[in-house]
Amino acid sequence: MGRIRVLSDQVANQIAAGEVVDRPASVVKELLENSLDAGANHIRVEVEAGGRKLIRIADDGQGMNRDDALLAFERHATSKLRTADDLLSIATLGFRGEALPSIASVARVTLQTATDDDSAGTRVEIHGGKILHVDDAALPRGTTITVEDLFFNTPARRKFLRAESTELAHVTALVTHYALVHPDKHFELLSATHTLVSAPPVSRTAERIYQILGKETLAQMLPVAAETPLAHGGLPEPPPWKRDPDEPRRDPGSLRLSGFYSKPELQKLNRNSIYIFVNKRLIRDRSLLHAISEAYRNVIPPTSYPVVLLYLEMPPEEVDVNVHPAKTEVRFRQQSMIHDFVRDSVRTALISARPAAGFLGARVGAGASPSLMPSAWSALPGSPESVLPGEEPKSEPDSDPEATRAAGGDATPFRLNADEPLARPGRFEFGAQSAGPGFQPQGDAGDWPGHQAWGEAAAAIFQPSSGGGGQIPGSAASEFGPTAGFSPGPAVGTAAVEIEQAATNLNRLGSLKPLGQLRDSFILATGEDGLWIIDQHVAHERILFEKILRDRQTESVQRQRLLMPLLVELKPWQMVVFARIADELERNGIEVEPFGPQQLAVKAAPPGLEGAALERMLTELIEKSSTEPGETFQNENLAALRARIAASMACHAAIKVNCPLDVQRMEWLLTELAKTSHPTNCPHGRPIALLYSWKEIQRAFHRI
Ligand code: ADP
Ligand code: MG
Repeated sequence: MGRIRVLSDQVANQIAAGEVVDRPASVVKELLENSLDAGANHIRVEVEAGGRKLIRIADDGQGMNRDDALLAFERHATSKLRTADDLLSIATLGFRGEALPSIASVARVTLQTATDDDSAGTRVEIHGGKILHVDDAALPRGTTITVEDLFFNTPARRKFLRAESTELAHVTALVTHYALVHPDKHFELLSATHTLVSAPPVSRTAERIYQILGKETLAQMLPVAAETPLAHGGLPEPPPWKRDPDEPRRDPGSLRLSGFYSKPELQKLNRNSIYIFVNKRLIRDRSLLHAISEAYRNVIPPTSYPVVLLYLEMPPEEVDVNVHPAKTEVRFRQQSMIHDFVRDSVRTALISARPAAGFLGARVGAGASPSLMPSAWSALPGSPESVLPGEEPKSEPDSDPEATRAAGGDATPFRLNADEPLARPGRFEFGAQSAGPGFQPQGDAGDWPGHQAWGEAAAAIFQPSSGGGGQIPGSAASEFGPTAGFSPGPAVGTAAVEIEQAATNLNRLGSLKPLGQLRDSFILATGEDGLWIIDQHVAHERILFEKILRDRQTESVQRQRLLMPLLVELKPWQMVVFARIADELERNGIEVEPFGPQQLAVKAAPPGLEGAALERMLTELIEKSSTEPGETFQNENLAALRARIAASMACHAAIKVNCPLDVQRMEWLLTELAKTSHPTNCPHGRPIALLYSWKEIQRAFHRI
């Protein structure tokens, strides 16, 4: 007798469960996706003991009849797909027909479901893959699935679960993600003792961001929207002999992008605050993360990351979602085109918005802070960065001295209107300022006192029935500060731009009237918007940086022979690094010749760079070039090197602080700054200009 056997369904399901469900959050993900696919408008998630003991999801979706309720637990049973061709254009979140049988094989599951048409609802009880009971039951339309004792029959799996609080954090992050992409739906997440998420329907994404991420984050975000027609479909055309001549050519459709991106002063230490949704599916995609970093290149330091919520919509055939069992990765059929579209759209938005940093913004955003949310990505089951069984979850960089510094250390509170509380006490805070590195529930959910109250308050504000039509009432809107007012408007679906920014931006720098300097270091200027303070050094640095890059691009670099060559002594390793960048330095006007084994002679340099500054610039550049992490994308090395050289040269040639300037110089500086493409931040990410807005001034004087 042969030794090969076909596995029983039970074993096959448990194997599949290994891929699809590896922790409570992945169960929640699959069930939430099912509810959304079923057209639910209200989804309520309950968990006990971080989801180990109980996960219950109740929805008001279309429900299932008795036959379907049983079939749903069969392997590869799905209502979302019929033929292999359907795989090419999947419009639902699920399609593999694996989730329910997988979950049922490793837990005690009860399904209660009813449709509109059937008189009776159905109750199915299934433990470890075995159906125990099937009964009729009087139920309202919708589906409730209760998952108890997860992994009760797979002790090996159960052992790998983390602390309850960790699992709960993952579940919370997950529900949050889905809530962010469906503002029109009601999401609730409850633990045994607390309401963790309470997000009644709102008409605009901005309001959902407010509900979930809070006022401070929202005030730091700017909207972006763009659309481009696709030149051709992502799928290959059938050959001519297979084409039906009568069939009209299919419209390839278009690519739409919308969302919110953070002002440059809001910086995070990792990518966990970048959320990318493709056709309402939360995904992780390296090329899009890269596109976003590219958009922020030279605006924030390469080691910092922005907060971005990006919603991409495209015809389903443009994206292959069937590349990963947990469906967290996708493959775009026109990847480089989508990459460039995202990069250019965000960058263009950033350049044209030129958001001015307010005093409040400067305080909140000072330095990079850890991610908006904890373990946002590791919460995605099966995502590349998810925690492997047996491994401690990657610690948030809270031990990073940089983070500690940024999270409060030297971020001097630069607030003038002290009567406004910094954060609502007891609010559910994802922000780094309040709770350290993201929200790390410890012990039990009880660590968020008052959250429930906040949830209720938010519910009261956002409840459409409260008369506001789901909009933030006027009084609240004014709290958003001058830079992020809401524009009332019709509900435009989840992914449209909703905040209209007040025109407080740096386009006006050129028309400001300089008043004088503060300690010979900061230019004070007035304009329509209020009082501006401009850091003269970083302003000049930005001007020079862009000029140096431009001159290099057009090969029109100026150089000046030094009267006496400048001798610079280097250590052997520095000589090695220098050799690597010598050619590019030469093209930037810095002519250097070796002078003995450990000395360089600088013979020419661009005007403005000489003596000690030149020497410091060279050693600093060598230092930076030796530690720069290897770049992965083509041509990146050269572009990054050029930016680094330009940033270094600009920094050392720029006007210093403690340097008196006359009015002409100040005016020149402001005019030139206004002409740059990024007058907001120096190449290292520091803000250039702060605006103390008219409104803030009035408020501080209690005039409004
Ligand atoms: P998939 O979502 O990939 O189709 P699942 O195993 O997750 O596979 O679910 C199987 C089927 O059960 C779905 O195709 C759907 O028809 C049905 N189903 C699951 N959950 C729900 C729900 N909450 N409401 C209505 N139908 C559901
Ligand atoms: Mg499913």
